Amino acid sequence: MFIRKKAKLRLHEEDVELVNSTFGCRRFVWNQLLNSHKEQYEKWKEGGTLEKPKVSISAFREEFKRIKTEYPWLSEVSSNALYETITDLYNAFQRFFKGLSGHPEFKSKRGKQSFRIASRVNMYIEGNRVRFPKSNYYARFSKNTILNDPSSYTVTRDNVGDYFISFVDQIDEIEPEPESKGKFVGIDLGIKSLAIVKPSNREPWELINPKTYAKYQKRRTTLSRRLMKKKNGGNNRNKTRIKLAKLERKVANIRKDLLHKFTTKLIKENQMISIEDLNVKGMVKNHKLAKHIQDCSFGTIRTMLEYKAKRYTKPKVITIVNRFFASTQLCSQCGVLPKERIGLKIRNWTCWNCGTKHDRDINAATNILNEGLRLNQTS
Ligand SMILES: [Zn+2]
Repeated sequence: MFIRKKAKLRLHEEDVELVNSTFGCRRFVWNQLLNSHKEQYEKWKEGGTLEKPKVSISAFREEFKRIKTEYPWLSEVSSNALYETITDLYNAFQRFFKGLSGHPEFKSKRGKQSFRIASRVNMYIEGNRVRFPKSNYYARFSKNTILNDPSSYTVTRDNVGDYFISFVDQIDEIEPEPESKGKFVGIDLGIKSLAIVKPSNREPWELINPKTYAKYQKRRTTLSRRLMKKKNGGNNRNKTRIKLAKLERKVANIRKDLLHKFTTKLIKENQMISIEDLNVKGMVKNHKLAKHIQDCSFGTIRTMLEYKAKRYTKPKVITIVNRFFASTQLCSQCGVLPKERIGLKIRNWTCWNCGTKHDRDINAATNILNEGLRLNQTS
């Protein structure tokens, strides 16, 4: 089983330049590969005699060889880190072809930067020290990071300007199996609370948004406003930008921790978990913090459930209910549609057919549970 471990990284001062230029070279290779693919694609679309450009590892490798000859300074950084860019770009295209994400985009030198070393020959790890390829120095990471047999590591610099290292590590143990047989839940990812959970044999419960979010929302608005007023490129502006990035990182960490606990609990206690397939891409456009957190959570909950499910020997079933399934509109008791559409503002309603009084979210979670059970019976 593979897991990911992340630790703060303390670079040797002689390494800062090397690490930063590795980010830069990686970005450069990505953008070059993407650009030449784009150009070839456009030429092909215009109907020239050219072949349709291939999206394949080998095609990218060929192009990379050409780029490396043209820009010899690329060999000043780890070539393994640059080769990994090829894999990443290829995977980004695959996700795009499957409709899971948008077309790969050019990378900007602003924001989060990263590179990955995924060749054991290039990974010089000694206890809690790591030496990057082409460096003579060791960088240190947290003493508590116990590594078993890492197969790759990723170095990142976040918006605050701090460096981190994360390892993909292998562990053999399989967690003991709690009694989960015959236990099913439906989850409605909500707006008011983060999620409503409806177990098949028990009362529903909800995952509540931490109160701290409201406080951070206020602080975030203040900082964003201040940032807009500040002159471009000024020293104060940079300070405010870092403050804002720190705040966002803090919120992201609280959220991630919460979602980890939530998904672990769900996976441990249930045999089947049914969730809605939400159009995350459409929702992320909203910029309000509380809403934003919610939007990010939808995708994360699904991803976490899916990989945590693999930790068990007895299969756990994650059922994705179609996003067009009318989970909020049906009566979960008798299955009829209400005479009028249940709008977003309606929290409670009574079924005209069977007279059941419904809470909007609990009804939705129950419908998602029932739909999950139905889908598993037919498949
Ligand atoms: Zn009814």
